[in-house]
Amino acid sequence: MRLLAAILLFVAAVVTQASPTDENARFGAFVETVLDGYWKLRPEDAFAEGYYKYADRMSIPDAATRAEQVAFADDALRSLEGFDPRRLSVENRVDLVLLRNEFESDRWYLTVFRDWEWQPSQYNVADTFARQLDTEYAPADTRLRHMLGRLERVPAYYVAAKASLSRPTVEDTAIAIEQNRNGLEVFDEGLMRKVQSSGLTDSEKALFAVRVAAARAAIADYVSFLADLKPKLEQGGGRSFRIGKELYAQKFAYDLQSGFTVTELYDKARAEKAALHDRMELLARILWPKYMGAAPLPDDRFELIRAVFDVLSKHHTTPARYVETVRQQIVVLEQFVREHDLVEMDPSRPLVVREMPGYMRGFSGAHLVSPGPYDPTAKAFYDVTPLDRDAPERAESYLREYNDWMLQLLSIHEAIPGHYVQDVHANKSKSLVKALFGDPATIEGWAVYGERMMLDAGYGGNAPEMWLTWMKWNLRSVCNTIVDVEVQTGDLTRDRFVSFLKREGFQSEAEATDKWRRATLSQVQLDAYYDGYIEITALRDEEKHRLGKDFSVKAFNTRFLSYGSAPVRYIRELMREPQ
Ligand code: ZN
Ligand code: ZN
Repeated sequence: MRLLAAILLFVAAVVTQASPTDENARFGAFVETVLDGYWKLRPEDAFAEGYYKYADRMSIPDAATRAEQVAFADDALRSLEGFDPRRLSVENRVDLVLLRNEFESDRWYLTVFRDWEWQPSQYNVADTFARQLDTEYAPADTRLRHMLGRLERVPAYYVAAKASLSRPTVEDTAIAIEQNRNGLEVFDEGLMRKVQSSGLTDSEKALFAVRVAAARAAIADYVSFLADLKPKLEQGGGRSFRIGKELYAQKFAYDLQSGFTVTELYDKARAEKAALHDRMELLARILWPKYMGAAPLPDDRFELIRAVFDVLSKHHTTPARYVETVRQQIVVLEQFVREHDLVEMDPSRPLVVREMPGYMRGFSGAHLVSPGPYDPTAKAFYDVTPLDRDAPERAESYLREYNDWMLQLLSIHEAIPGHYVQDVHANKSKSLVKALFGDPATIEGWAVYGERMMLDAGYGGNAPEMWLTWMKWNLRSVCNTIVDVEVQTGDLTRDRFVSFLKREGFQSEAEATDKWRRATLSQVQLDAYYDGYIEITALRDEEKHRLGKDFSVKAFNTRFLSYGSAPVRYIRELMREPQ
């Protein structure tokens, strides 16, 4: 099926188009209908994407709902067979392939992977209720009435959740307990105060109180159900968090639509790690006298490199100047991209650097918040958590990691020319399908590719400090792939995992243990960075070779981004078509 999709796409390039308008119009109408039907069956996911039509609904995660979702995917796949790719525009042809993958993937998740059986953290009602309070998608009273209707279903939701589970993993059960317990905060007195001061009638307010109490009881019951289950799972009743080779290969194909197999990607990552270590040692030796004077060189290359990172980490901004430092970096990065003609920038869509709002804090020091595909002209924010209110040791340890060099790489990755620039271009493709069902390898890969592209263009003045720091940062993507494959398809233990990332990845204890947790809770996702990076880099090199002196980095980058977040292997085919 997947191979067929690729062939169809390719054949389409060489056949003359005949009356394409009708087929495109028909396809456009189909996309609108199919997405609406899709969201109707997933009202919570729809809300998260900014599609509010079903904001008053709540899905019940039971067998009937899953059967409906499978039937919907089957119907959609049959309908897609009815379109002739040769008569579709380039944009629509990519959308066709993405939709096909999405529905095949839905089917696979529901019937083969069956994560709904063993990931109790999938069941949590708090997030959508919290979003309904915070998002002004309708007048406040309307939103409260939507919540009132949805609240009625919460007890049935958790009954279905409990009935769906069989042999969950210990790791996911632990996080489900934590997250559902935290979710109780959404249904606190703060919510009831909002209800009391609203325009709801007295009987609605009374009903609200009753339903909130019932919802709280249902969540508490789910938490204690999981807490009782956990010791039994720990004694061997639980499913292993390792999904094994077969499922991993299938999930890899659906989630990333990579041009590589798992084994190919893994072997490349091992080789890349060795190459990076060689170059890091070289740079560490060059930097040694500058920072270490006459101190003797360690015999062990990993100790040598780590010692240099230890001194580099002392060069960093202050907690008080942190947000302003990032703000200034954005100006410098934007100017650099323009002056070096690296990619088209859109002055009408400026990036706003802001202090991260309180409720979002605690997960990362800085991240990009981009407008949802249904609301593409909303502002993009680069949220930065101020450090001046942190305990000094905490701020210091963060700044040692995000020192003068690393912080620049972070802003390149998140903002310019990374995620923010990619997003501005992706939203211009006006394809909801690409925005909604884009390939994570294209998205993360672009950000990782952007880091290298900037340094290749001379950003950082070719300073060995900058390159060495980039190598550590890049090594993180490479090691993500290595450990994800080894954890999920092999038997890599926690101890070996952590010591590997510390010694060969130069990571801190905290970073390595956080990564272990992530590697036991997700699969394949950690491959996206390195996979996308090498696929995009290979495509650029092929284009350079193909076009010779006609090649321009800016033209390549801008054209690449014009296809939204389509998988790189399809972008390759589309790029080769006559314009
Ligand atoms: Zn310091
Ligand atoms: Zn990223």
